[in-house]
Amino acid sequence: MSEGKEIRMKGLGVSQGVAIGRAIVNVHAQKQENAMSLRTPAEEEARFLEALKNSKAQLEDLRQRLNQEGKVKEAAIFEAHSLFLDDPEVLGPIKKAIAKGYSAEGALNNVMNRCLAVFEKLGTPAAERQAADVRDITARILNNLGGGPAEVTVKGGIVVARELAPSQTADLEKQEVAALVTEYGGATSHTALMVQAMGLPAVLGVANLLTHIEDGDQMIVDGTKGEIIVDPAPETLLFYGEILAEQRKERTELKALRGVKAKTMDDKPVTLLGNIAIPEETKRHIDYGAEGIGLYRTEFLFMGKRELPSEEEQYEAYAKAVLAAEGRPVVIRTLDLGGDKFALSFGKIRESNPFLGWRAIRISLDRPELFRTQLRAIIRAANLGDVRVMFPMVATVEEFRHAKSLFLEAKRELEERGESVKEYIPCGMMVEIPAAAVMADHFARQVDFFSIGTNDLVQYTMAADRGNAKVAKLYDALHPSVLRLIAMTVAAAHNGERKIEVCCCGAAAGKPESGLLYLGLGVDSLSMPAEAQSVLKRALLKTKLSDCQTAGRKILEARDFDTYKELRAEWLARFK
Ligand code: PEP
Ligand code: MG
Repeated sequence: MSEGKEIRMKGLGVSQGVAIGRAIVNVHAQKQENAMSLRTPAEEEARFLEALKNSKAQLEDLRQRLNQEGKVKEAAIFEAHSLFLDDPEVLGPIKKAIAKGYSAEGALNNVMNRCLAVFEKLGTPAAERQAADVRDITARILNNLGGGPAEVTVKGGIVVARELAPSQTADLEKQEVAALVTEYGGATSHTALMVQAMGLPAVLGVANLLTHIEDGDQMIVDGTKGEIIVDPAPETLLFYGEILAEQRKERTELKALRGVKAKTMDDKPVTLLGNIAIPEETKRHIDYGAEGIGLYRTEFLFMGKRELPSEEEQYEAYAKAVLAAEGRPVVIRTLDLGGDKFALSFGKIRESNPFLGWRAIRISLDRPELFRTQLRAIIRAANLGDVRVMFPMVATVEEFRHAKSLFLEAKRELEERGESVKEYIPCGMMVEIPAAAVMADHFARQVDFFSIGTNDLVQYTMAADRGNAKVAKLYDALHPSVLRLIAMTVAAAHNGERKIEVCCCGAAAGKPESGLLYLGLGVDSLSMPAEAQSVLKRALLKTKLSDCQTAGRKILEARDFDTYKELRAEWLARFK
């Protein structure tokens, strides 16, 4: 495409690492089928039902494989696809169109296009993700109707696509793909979550990507910087070749840090904890050296299912995590649905601002039955180890009090049932709404611990959607406003009448440049994915805690933005 002149393009570096390879362009063109059929409606319906059955079987295989690999978030996506295929509101109109003489393909495209139009009109990142799911499901059924491969068939190379559907992304791991680049997709899109779990370098949201790349072009993907280079110059290739060699060396080095206890260069121990979504992940964290689970995201038990999980089902899951932690603390966060996380059992929730809407503790307080069921399961699991309960998205002291009263009610219910109940189970809250950070001194009088959720705290402080590529520049976990809120939370926790601990469990906790600065601001522990622990440990071993504290203090004291920027650059230079 380019005539020997390298082209550099920026996007969102959603999964770190570098790759060099040839472009495999997948424009995802779908074969247009004749809308009306020459077959009888009965024949068309039989074809459609057969394709539906095969699609569901494939989705079930995918779901099982991902679950076995511990990739529960990804598995939940395909479970949701499968349930979508059972939805009478989708199947009914398709069958009706077939009865009117449409081909199975024509009927499917008709109905799915109507669904897409609804999502596209909404235009929110959550709706974009749902639209991507609908396109993925449609491609799969069309394939099963004989409309060409739904999978990206590539061995090696760099997959370049307008947008990659979750099921296609899942297959990248099986094939030896070096990296992924797409034109659409945000930092918390399903595709982003999946490539991160695979450790596959990826840059998403590269504007006008496909106008600059052709199949077979040589390219470099820098997932760390969020940059791609097409037709690189020889010196660029040399430069990245060295980075690639370093990357291999680094992966070996990080492996050696698994299981090692975290401490700083000046010998100060640091508490690293793990974030989990399913109980099976606990062991992996312990093997990496985590001192417990700092965040158990329980909503994954509710996602992709039509029925709400029973108390027993929840108890079993929580008990599994607690037992696997072998006496180490496990912080179980109550349901955090809403925003971009949905449960089919809740039906369709339409809101124009879902991240500012009916989410997390707001849902739990409005649905006390559901909340107490979850709390009973958690309280029972507390008999097996060191369990702590955490409420998400608390904005007001009244909400915390209300949640605590329902917790005490759930305890009483269990006692009335004759079950033994632990006398003291700590009840903490996430600090992820600026209002909570600003009022942290009020909260600290009644809350047993804080856990700062930077994923949301940054989005609400900067008014920048955590999944929207267009505002990613504003979404800054080191912005002084965010750092001030963290410092306020720590001060309220440590200086109040009751000294309480502060953890940080957002994604920024697992990145050296932010995690270490938060430690410097006084955060007591950091909770993160297993792989991030090794990266953090390596950075800790090269840094004194006193340097983190000095950097934190100086940045907070910066009197103007330019001084802040200088100090920030100085701090970041340590992690180059
Ligand atoms: C956060 O907001 O930082 C957090 C840990 O919660 P979640 O990512 O589940 O919203
Ligand atoms: Mg959050």
